[in-house]
Amino acid sequence: MSATHGIVAVIPLAWGEDALVATLGTAQQVSASAGCGFDVLLLGEDVPAQVLQRLASAGAGAVRLAQHSALADAQNQPALAAATAQVLGDLSGQQVLLVPPGADGEELAGHLAAQLDAPLLGRCQQLLWDDAGWLAERAVWGGRKTLELRLDAPLGVACLRLGKAQAVAAGELAEPQRVALSQPLPPAMLIEQSRSEQRLAPVQGARLVVAGGRGVNEQGFALLEELAARLDGALGGSLPAVDAGLVPVARQVGISGNFVTAGVYLAVGISGTPQHLAGISSETCILAVNKDPAADIFKVANVGVVAEWEQLLPVLLEQLPG
Ligand SMILES: Cc1cc2nc3c(=O)[nH]c(=O)nc-3n(C[C@H](O)[C@H](O)[C@H](O)COP(=O)(O)OP(=O)(O)OC[C@H]3O[C@@H](n4cnc5c(N)ncnc54)[C@H](O)[C@@H]3O)c2cc1C
Repeated sequence: MSATHGIVAVIPLAWGEDALVATLGTAQQVSASAGCGFDVLLLGEDVPAQVLQRLASAGAGAVRLAQHSALADAQNQPALAAATAQVLGDLSGQQVLLVPPGADGEELAGHLAAQLDAPLLGRCQQLLWDDAGWLAERAVWGGRKTLELRLDAPLGVACLRLGKAQAVAAGELAEPQRVALSQPLPPAMLIEQSRSEQRLAPVQGARLVVAGGRGVNEQGFALLEELAARLDGALGGSLPAVDAGLVPVARQVGISGNFVTAGVYLAVGISGTPQHLAGISSETCILAVNKDPAADIFKVANVGVVAEWEQLLPVLLEQLPG
């Protein structure tokens, strides 16, 4: 690894294949554009051979495994962060820890930043290296503005998604360096599980979100809920819809609500204010239904339908199996 800068991909093995492939893909791309290599720190109980194969073919540099039975618990974020802090060791130059993209990764990034007293670059769009050091670009206001964060410390923590890992090297298996943990890890958090009365999935993590805004009334929300249920999606709403009691606050989408990364977001009777769009990933395909052809939502929607929901939603439901 370069003495001036580098990347360490921190990958909890219990998070599975998707987390592994996405983190490696990002590490590959960031390190290639920054002219440095990337090392990998695996966290887990043990490492399967196919994971080592993948790391090798992705061109990873040094691979270490922080090994502990507590790290098999995918949800024990404090333990994952504590293990990382214990085994990270001395790093040369300015380094960035890359964690898997997504909500879990962002939570882990926060724990790591606190444990290591390192700046949290958060969910970035890009991570670039220039003469002044690492520079993170973050999308704000639903991707319409970009915030530049200059890392002014030896170590930062970032979370971003830049595609899947590609095979770039011969892929010879090499045993990772197994690092013993000298300190006990925090115990798993006791999580009490109770049955939610909501029949629909939460908006965060849903692959499809059907959302309504101020242009939709109670009857319309009943149709949206039915639509979400039939499409196996989640129901969301804008702030005014939440204020009107049409949808629970836990389902609010926007800058003061949830950030959704669904593949598809159906926005009905939502005008498309920056505060609402800030809660929708720029990678999400937006389908908008609005009676006003000049509504701002149509400027960002991938598909727009100028219609009143009163006409459109019943017809749409008729077409779907019950
Ligand atoms: C600090 C702050 C934080 C905020 N956080 C959030 C947030 O997290 N989330 C959020 O959503 N907002 C947030 N807001 C509020 C935000 O500014 C807007 O007020 C809000 O997003 C507008 O919601 P809307 O699109 O549902 O309503 P409107 O802007 O009123 O739009 C309603 C739309 O419905 C359409 N319509 C009306 N009738 C029909 C019909 N019959 N069929 C089809 N379309 C119809 C209209 O043409 C219109 O475009 C925040 C504001 C502030 C100041």
